[in-house]
Amino acid sequence: MTIVDILRSSPDPTMDRCFRFFPCLADPGRRSSLCLKLVLVTIHVVYLVILFLFDGDLIEKTKKEPWYTALYLLLFGVTLIQYFATSISSPGYALDAMRAVNERNAIYRQTSETSNQSASSRNGSFIVTVEGNQTERNVSGSKATAWSKLVADLYSGSSISRTWTCTYCNVEQPPRAKHCHDCDKCVLQFDHHCVWLGNCIGQGNHCLFWWYLCEETALCLWTGVLYISYLKAHITLVWWKDAIMILLLITLAISLIFLLLLLLFHSYLILTNQTTYELVRRRRITYLRGLPERVHPFSKGVCRNVYNFCCLRSSIYNSLEPIPSPEEIKEKSRPYSCLAVVTCRCC
Ligand SMILES: [Zn+2]
Ligand SMILES: [Zn+2]
Repeated sequence: MTIVDILRSSPDPTMDRCFRFFPCLADPGRRSSLCLKLVLVTIHVVYLVILFLFDGDLIEKTKKEPWYTALYLLLFGVTLIQYFATSISSPGYALDAMRAVNERNAIYRQTSETSNQSASSRNGSFIVTVEGNQTERNVSGSKATAWSKLVADLYSGSSISRTWTCTYCNVEQPPRAKHCHDCDKCVLQFDHHCVWLGNCIGQGNHCLFWWYLCEETALCLWTGVLYISYLKAHITLVWWKDAIMILLLITLAISLIFLLLLLLFHSYLILTNQTTYELVRRRRITYLRGLPERVHPFSKGVCRNVYNFCCLRSSIYNSLEPIPSPEEIKEKSRPYSCLAVVTCRCC
């Protein structure tokens, strides 16, 4: 054992006390995620504070037209709230979906059994008494079957005849789900694991993520406009103020380009009903391998894709998508003719 190892393993009383008050800090992953969140909030606050400290004209404008600054501050607040809402939102874990499906099935079975028993007693026929343990066994047995059956149904129409069980969480994965090694859970319609948010982006929060990108892009753009107006009016007056403002503006411009590209990319994914993971790893994913590049097997047309993305994600049954049959893939592979364009086949 080296000295470094001994130092690392030796308990630090201050850190121990800190971890006791804030248990979330004991996990290095959550610690780095909290640090990144703190950095992001600090960057936002620095841009805002410097703008109001340096730009006297903006203060004057606020006095004359308070709604303008109020709107900007509203966007600032909404963007940060959206950021935190997305970072704590559930991306839709396969394990939670499995529990929900099984519980619903168990309740349904219990209800139908109760109604059958009361019907039998009304008819004066034989009444079956079920022991507590036996009921539990039956329910748990039916739990496994309900999810397995649902997942098997999603694969049934395709040429892929088997279901996939995650080797890490031992959950049968529906199509488009993937295990995230950062979250250590299987995520439905896995898109990517966002380091800045410290959260996975999947079926449950892709819509929130897209809105966050929109708001962050708008905030960046507006802040850029305010910085440019300051520089236009005050450049060459105080050199160090100009230097700070130009440096911040350059960083802002780089962030804006990145955000705009990300927003466009995710909008394209939504319109074609794809995920980042499916687009990047297309050749490695079994249900996508061998398909022509322009064929998006889960796409139901632009309008339907947008509607499903915005409105149907909250329901497990509506959002779990089956793998299309070979006939459907063949239909989607048909080249676009003039007639297809006129009849809005892509919509
Ligand atoms: Zn898993
Ligand atoms: Zn993750």
